[in-house]
Order: sequence, then structure tokens, then C-alpha cells
Amino acid sequence: MQRTYPIDVEAVREDFPLLRRRDVIYLDNAATTHKPRQVIDAIREFYERMNANVHRGVYQLAIESTEAYEDARRKVMEFIGARDRREIVFTRNTTESINLVANGYGFKKLTRGSKVVLSEMEHHSNIVPWQILARRLGCKIEYVPITDEGELRYDLMEKMVRDASVVSIVHASNVLGTINNVREIVKLAKDNGAVTVVDAAQTVPHMPVDVGEMGVDFLAFSGHKMLGPMGIGVLYGRRELLEEMDPFLGGGEMIREVTLEGSRWNEVPWKFEAGTPNVADAIGLGAAIDYLKRLGMDKVRDHESKLVRYALERLREIPHLRIYGPNDSYERVGVLSFTLADVHPHDLAEHLDRKFNIAIRAGHHCAMPLHSRLNLTATSRASFYIYNTYEEIDKLVEGLVSALNYYKVI
Ligand code: PMP
Repeated sequence: MQRTYPIDVEAVREDFPLLRRRDVIYLDNAATTHKPRQVIDAIREFYERMNANVHRGVYQLAIESTEAYEDARRKVMEFIGARDRREIVFTRNTTESINLVANGYGFKKLTRGSKVVLSEMEHHSNIVPWQILARRLGCKIEYVPITDEGELRYDLMEKMVRDASVVSIVHASNVLGTINNVREIVKLAKDNGAVTVVDAAQTVPHMPVDVGEMGVDFLAFSGHKMLGPMGIGVLYGRRELLEEMDPFLGGGEMIREVTLEGSRWNEVPWKFEAGTPNVADAIGLGAAIDYLKRLGMDKVRDHESKLVRYALERLREIPHLRIYGPNDSYERVGVLSFTLADVHPHDLAEHLDRKFNIAIRAGHHCAMPLHSRLNLTATSRASFYIYNTYEEIDKLVEGLVSALNYYKVI
């Protein structure tokens, strides 16, 4: 296979201070990504030149801070194909975004016996908030099973969503890499009157995502997995639904009027952003979006597909190595989970770190039900992003072969 890149990887790597300063092969991008200097500079710039609370002051600094914060919201809106800035709520991360839907929408609209449909390949952040809700309200949760190849059982879905109130599904699995056909799922759910939620933590950073095309009601993702800072996330919500929802947190900024007897809420999205928001990191996320847009999301996707294809080919050469998820690189995001004979994933990750400076993830990756379904307690996971190279995958293969010898598997 030709080892070419759709993007200028060398130039990209130059933009990442950590990759220049540390001798590391970083393959844990599904957990979090590194930050280019453009993002770091945007955050520093905010604190050095603007720093003031937003939506409150009438003085120049406050006006500039507010404009920069709201401009970041506009960038997010455009990036995911939303058409109304008010459909973008800033949260801390994907987890908080899904909790907001479960509490703000679920708690208001669902009742005893209502059905929520999830899947067996969900991250805990798209399971636990619904379990908490189900415990409070007495609703039911059903999980769409997966096949042994790590695909959703689409054949069962029609029946499962028939009487569902909410269908909440991950766009791409952070363990299997499987990209789910969310357009089809959303359509099916809508035809049956269910509200749809998509956990896009592993897709918005890696491929073009358009909420309009998808037709989804709510979509959640995290800034830190897409070159942005930690502590800023997004909930996209269809405006009518956001309007109907109750706030989840109360306090300053989310109100229109407060009296001793009660309060009236601010307009969306601000009614969901109680207290002083994470202004600097929202601006950092805006800079991350600018960076990704300059590269082009089609190219980002292409780059990762090529790396995954190469990694699948090379990893298949290794004896006793088992890869989970779809065989076809184009049905996956840049996530590869595997086991190597009976070497414990933590031992393997430590070996790769100690001897090769390779950072991979080991464990259940916050998807314990999925691991149980695969009869596993843990896997090792390598996940790629725009700065990864074929040479790094070669090094990973070398490290895995060395682990085979070290642990005397062969
Ligand atoms: N969903 C998926 C699919 C994820 O991969 C992750 C992060 N591993 C999350 C949700 C949670 O993201 P965060 O920790 O940023 O809330």
C-alpha cells in the first residue's frame, strides 16, 4: 500500500508543542487529543487581552469577551451544520451534554413505563444518565444487541423503537471503531415518534458531521477530543425541544427574572448555561474548529482511514493478536482495540510505554457492558489522529512483537 498522506503531516506536527518537546508516540486520541499552538495561543490571548465576564458588563472588555464567546458558538454551529446559534449549548463535555438531555428533556417528558433505547456498544456516559433517570421515573431501558463483528443488529431495531420515547445511540464506538448508520436509526426512531440523541464524541472530531442531514434531535460531543481544551463540550438540540426543556442547573445568567416567589428562565441556549461559563475554553474550541476546517474534515477522515487500513494490515501479521470490530477500514473511525494472547492489556500498555514510548489505552474504555458482551474484561486500544504517521504504526507493530517475546507467548 502506498504510504501517502492526504494532509501535510509534517507541517501539522510542527504545530503541536507537546509532540516537539516529548519523545512520545501518542496513540490514545480517542481519550483526548493534543492541542496545537493556535488553540493554546487563543486561550492565552483571551486571558491576556480580554478576560471579563460575559453577558454582564457594559464596558469594552466585557463586550469583547461576550462577542468572542458568542463567536465560538457560531463556529460550532457552522461546523456541525446547525442553522441557529441558539441550538448550541456549551457544556463541560459529552457526558454533561447527555446528562442535560436526560435531566432537562427526559425528566420532563418521560413517565413510568416510558422506553429508552440504547445499544450494547454505548460508552458509560450514554448509559448511566439514562439508568439514573429510569430509577427515578420507573422507565425501561432496552439495548440494541450487536453482532459478533461489532455491528448493531439493525434487523431488530424496527421492533425495538416502535414504542420508544427516546433512542440514544453512539455514532462511532470508542472501542470497536464501528460507525453506525445514524441517519437510518434517526429516521426509524422519528417514524415511530421517538426523540433521538446521538453521542458523537468519536465522530465530530474525525469526519464531516451535519446535524441537518442526520435529522437528529440532540447531538453531544467534547472539545478535548478535537484539538480543543478540556472542560468544554457541546450539546446541539433542536430549538423547539430546547425551548420545551427545563433547565438542569439553576443560578445566575440562566434567568430572565427572579423574585422571592419564583423565577422565569432566560432564552435558549443561555437558560442551560448557569453561572460563569468556560469562556476561554469555548474560544479555544473555536480555534480548534478553525484548525480542522483549514485541513478539511474530508481530508482528516481520509488520513485516518488510511492509517487504520495500514494498521489493520500490519496488525493482522502479528500472531495471537485479535482485533475487535469491523474488518473494513472505511466502516471504522481511527480506533483499534485488540488483545494479544493472554497478555493483560495493562501489562502490554506498560511494556509499550516503557520500552517504546508508545502511549496506548488499556482497560474497559468506559464500556463495561460492551466488554462483557465480547466476553472480555479489558482490551488494548490504539487510536489515531491527524498527527499520526505510518512510521508510528510500524513502531507499534515492533512493540507488539517485542511484547510477544517478552511475555514468552512465542
Ligand atoms: N462517548 C464516547 C463514544 C466517548 O468515546 C467518550 C470519551 N471516551 C465519551 C462519550 C465521554 O466523553 P467525555 O469524557 O469528554 O465526557
